[in-house]
Formats: sequence, structure tokens, C-alpha cells
Amino acid sequence: MKKPQRQVVWLVTGSQELYGPGPLKQVAANSRVIARSLNGTKGIPMPIEFKSLLTTSEGVRALCLEANQDPECAGLVLWMHTFSPSRMWIGGLSLLRKPFAHLHTQFNRDLPWSEIDMDFMNLNQAAHGDREAGFIHARMRLPRKIIVGHWQDPEVRDRLCSWMRVVRGWHDAQGARFARFGDNMRRVAVTEGNKVSAEVLFGYQVDGYGVGDLVKAVDSVSDSEVDRLCAEYAELYDVAPSLRRGARRHRSLKDAARIELGLRAFLEAGGFKGFTTTFEDLHGLRQLPGLAVQRLMAEGYGFGAEGDWKTCALLRMMKVVGQGLPGGTSFMEDYTYHLHPSGSLVLGAHMLEICESIAAGKPSLEVHPLGIGGKEDPARLVFNAPAGAALNASLVDLGNRFRLIVNEVDVVEPPAPLPKLPVARAVWKCRPDFKTACGAWIRAGGAHHTAFSYSVTAEHLRDFAEIAGIEMLLIDRETRLAEFEKEIRWNEAYYHLAPIGRA
Ligand code: MN
Repeated sequence: MKKPQRQVVWLVTGSQELYGPGPLKQVAANSRVIARSLNGTKGIPMPIEFKSLLTTSEGVRALCLEANQDPECAGLVLWMHTFSPSRMWIGGLSLLRKPFAHLHTQFNRDLPWSEIDMDFMNLNQAAHGDREAGFIHARMRLPRKIIVGHWQDPEVRDRLCSWMRVVRGWHDAQGARFARFGDNMRRVAVTEGNKVSAEVLFGYQVDGYGVGDLVKAVDSVSDSEVDRLCAEYAELYDVAPSLRRGARRHRSLKDAARIELGLRAFLEAGGFKGFTTTFEDLHGLRQLPGLAVQRLMAEGYGFGAEGDWKTCALLRMMKVVGQGLPGGTSFMEDYTYHLHPSGSLVLGAHMLEICESIAAGKPSLEVHPLGIGGKEDPARLVFNAPAGAALNASLVDLGNRFRLIVNEVDVVEPPAPLPKLPVARAVWKCRPDFKTACGAWIRAGGAHHTAFSYSVTAEHLRDFAEIAGIEMLLIDRETRLAEFEKEIRWNEAYYHLAPIGRA
């Protein structure tokens, strides 16, 4: 897949002319110190550059227009080092199309109690300068992230890096293309949605293709490429004996490799960042793409089964957000339950398509019959997902808006081996508990398909929802069903009244 372009975040400091050139020089120098120091934060997802010290309406307007136009600028961090009358920000901020964070910090950490004078006070006045900025952001109903604390505080840096990851995912979605082979699984509702609204709100486009377009790409793969890929499989996975070179079912593996190569070529040629398939439309393909989907997801492509383009785009965004963090991210489906009195568990899986980025160990490569789809037996990677904290996220279209539903879960080791289950799987406990979580999820209309991640957090998804202006409902340790149901009712009214999140 094409490497994403370089992205940066701009640190923009607000002040005014009132103070004269001396203090302003100091403000700019301090801003440079902060940017340089923040850049040294371990794991910072992209550089942060001190861009400008702004003291006039014209300057703010010019900077916001420049940010809109600069393809590298993923977002802005605004900070009022001194007082910056905020009416001068209205013109620029009303034009700004990039996300911003409001960093409420102060250059000096400690007050020099025995030395403090009015010069110190005037140089360190974010305490009220940022309140003036906060007012205009609130008055203009601008979506933004607010981060509070000293710029050397590790927690502040953590919040900032976390937000920068989301900005990276958002930037990646703008102009992104997703390919949809065939349509939706017939008669399924939750995977449907308004693609025009999604393009207006999220910035990506979803384009449909006949499966014949994919078949053409698959058929033009050479035998030598197929053999090379089969050799790569043999190195990476525990290949079932019957699938090995010269064995009885090796042709099934070759068919799967050919599908992978054809699908990758199609996606690369079109510059796509994700795709959907549907088992109801496979004319000309020998198998439902399983292994191919698993491996392409692991490379960073978004994916949704049964035409589920919303989950496909959400998964891609979450993969970009989580890139570089420990733990993988996969397409997932709540498949079946263990309703034991001592504690209920969910077994998540799909027919085939779980990303190998969440494999606990070396996956085994197997071929088994698949009852649906009416095709030959598909190859797939089989593995368990490791124990650890994770979450499920689902994006649904409620007709007048999109709703993002998130449930934090704790993945556990499967209580017993699953020797007859021929698919990759994850077993988890829902937070706060099974009954509350599932009751809330179903009340909210959450889908059976989700994007499942060990690396992306509820904070990431909240920041994403803020930027997109959509509703997010979180089911976590604190969730109480009665309060959750009230939140849904209040949101119903709020999203009819608020001028956001509609398209
Ligand atoms: Mn499904």
C-alpha cells in the first residue's frame, strides 16, 4: 500500500500588539522551546512545528487559510501565551477546515514567589488568555480537543500525542477511496447507510465495482507470482499438510494466493485504502476471499464483510490511529455467547476475515468447507487473540445522523481449546458486565460487525467523533443502564437541535 504522506501539526501562539516587541519576541522564543521539547516526546506520531505568533485578525485569517491549503498540515495546536482578544480569531476560525486542539498551558511551571512582578504576570497569562479563547471556541460551537496542564507534564504530552494520532487518522480519511465489490448482503439493515452523508461528514468516498472487475485482476496474475506467494505462506504460517506443495489440496492454496495477488493489484491500481466483499456475489471467484482479506487487513487496509463499508472505513481509520502502538486492530463480529452463571463471555469471530495483527501466536493456515457462498473451500488463518484490554466500535446510520457505539472489553484466554472451530477468534468479557453491556449496545442499535482493537482507546474514538461532529456512546466500567438510556433520549433531542453531525 502507498505510504501515507508526511504530516505535521502546527503550534500557533496567540497574543496581541499591546505588549510591544520585547515581550512578543520572548513569547515566540518560548513557543519554540515548547515545540522543540514536545517533539522530543517518545512515540510522538508526527512532528509539531511552531508556526506563528499571531497578533492580528489578518494574521489569524491568513494562517487558517494556509492550514486549509497545506497538504501536510494535519491539525493545529492553539495556545494563548498572553492575552489575545478573541474577536480577532473569529474570521480565521470560521474558515478553518483542519482539526485543532486547545493547549491550556503556561510557559513557567512554578511561580517565582519571591521574585514575581508584573512583567512575569504579563508574560504568563494563559490563565485568562486561554479563557478568552475558550469563550470564542464555545461561542462559535467549534469542535476541539482541550488539553490542560504544564507542557512538560507527561500526562499532557500523552493527551497531545493521543489526539495527534486521531488527527492522523482523520487526515488519512480525507479524500480516501474504498472499493465495494458487489452490494450489501441482501435484506441486512445495519450494514446499510447513506454514503453521500458519510462523504460529506467523514471525507471519504465509497465506490461500487462488479466482482467481474476483481476477477479480471485475479485472472491476470501469473503462475510464478502465485508460487512465490505460496512459498511465503510456508515461511510465515503453519501450513496444514494437505495444503503444502505437492499435497492433495495445494490447489486451494494457490487459488487463495491468486485472489490475494489480484485483489492487492486492484487496490493498488485504484489507490484504495479498504474494500468490502459479499459472499452473495462471487461470480468467477473460486473461493470467498478469506486469507487474502486477513493479510490485506494486516497491511493496513480497511475491510467490511457483506458490503459493510461503514465498518471498513472505521477500521481503516482505527488502523491509522493505532499504528505504532502495541496490539492489533481487526474486523470483528459478535458471533456466539458463553452464558455461564459464573460469568458470561462473548466469542468474536467471522466466517474467515479476522486480521492476523491480533494473533496471539503463529497462525495456522488451513482450508475447510464453508456452508454459505456456494463456492470451493476457502483458505484461512486460524488463531486465538491474546488476553488484554480491547474495545469494539460500531458505526451505525440512524437516518438523521451517524452514531458511534464503543464497548470496552477484556479479552481472555479461551477457557478450553477449540479444536473443531476452523476460524480465528477472540473471547472477551464485556465491561462493566455482560448484561449491562449487551443491553446498552442493543438499546443503542450497535451492529454485529465491529472494528476491534487493542491499541485504539475510547479517548481516540471520542476525539474522532468530536472532529466529525457525530454522536458517540461509550459502554465502559462506569456505565449504568438507566443513565445510558437517558443519554440516548437526550441525544435524540440534541442532535435534532445542534447544527452538527448532519449531512
Ligand atoms: Mn458478518
